Amino acid sequence: MKSLETMSVHTARAEDRIIQPQVMPIFQTSAFSFSSLEEMEGYYEGNGTYLYSRTANPNTDALGQTVAELEGAPKGVAAASGMAAILAGILSVVQTGDHVLAAEDVYGGTFFLLKEELVRMGIIVHFTDFSDKASVEQYLIDYPEVKLAVSESITNPFLRVEDIAGLCGLAKRYGVKVMIDNTFATPYTEKPYAAGADLVVHSATKYLGGHGDATAGVLTGHADLLQQAEARIVSLGMNLSPFEAWLTVRGIKTLALRMKAQTENAKEIASFLEGKVRVWYPGKGAIVTFELPEHVDVHQFFAALGWIKIVPTLAGVETSVSYPYSTSHRELSEEEKQKIGVTKQTVRLSAGIEGTQDILDQLRAAFN
Ligand code: PLP
Repeated sequence: MKSLETMSVHTARAEDRIIQPQVMPIFQTSAFSFSSLEEMEGYYEGNGTYLYSRTANPNTDALGQTVAELEGAPKGVAAASGMAAILAGILSVVQTGDHVLAAEDVYGGTFFLLKEELVRMGIIVHFTDFSDKASVEQYLIDYPEVKLAVSESITNPFLRVEDIAGLCGLAKRYGVKVMIDNTFATPYTEKPYAAGADLVVHSATKYLGGHGDATAGVLTGHADLLQQAEARIVSLGMNLSPFEAWLTVRGIKTLALRMKAQTENAKEIASFLEGKVRVWYPGKGAIVTFELPEHVDVHQFFAALGWIKIVPTLAGVETSVSYPYSTSHRELSEEEKQKIGVTKQTVRLSAGIEGTQDILDQLRAAFN
């Protein structure tokens, strides 16, 4: 008879039973055990997959592989957040002394990472208007040190749709790699890898997870770059937790259904808003941005939105609104905000899966 101390640690273990779960269980473990020292040593010689969850875990691997398949890319890796995946993607290509060329309208957090953090690492970043490909080309001519171009398939908050094939064709001529943030579009709407991107990154916190209950990132792309990115994720500790990975994989099962419903709602919302306010909606995706007229009090408008919550994120199954001026674009100077057009009247709406008529009724009430 073992002691209570021993028994309370060595409880019945799942691996002792022959079970075949319908879905992948959560491997909520920080490390994996070995039946012999030889087996553990074998891991280091390449025989065996799992040792320690920071280096690899079945749930995080499942997320990376799933998104790689959806994007049509050979390899994918999960990271602790969208920002971690973006950083891993950048570091898989550039080193100290290299330059990065980025679209001036990238997500505020990415802008800050590029402008403030990369500079600390001795990486030079240039920003330009990516809708002007002549300007992009001029930078590639003037700065041969540029190794990577960074843009988004659909930008935030004005929903500019990137000409991915055009950008990638141009970059390739100068030997420059391209990373596309596909968060807003998702592979339901855009496939940047097939259009020539070397790396495709996601804040899986948004549509991939889709339920607003997990923070996660995924990077997909060429296998050699992904190997580099994976090494950075491991050594810098940017790995995702098994539970967040599991939640995100579960969310992805309904990605197509959600995107279909959310896109249809966004289209209806955009046509409802046309004529009332200035609207940005590119005809795809589920985000609608609009500008309230000067005479409308923004605080009053947000207060009148009822069950449509104010949430500084997007992509959940619930319709929500955000205020880019003081949230996603808060870090930008007044001048930088003005340059990309974010004003105190800009509202970003994320269409959910609710009944279309209910959303329109609530918006109508707020406008009234
Ligand atoms: N990329 C885009 C387009 C985003 O909107 C966000 C977050 O809002 C991120 C990246 C960063 O993702 P995370 O918050 O998961 O780090």
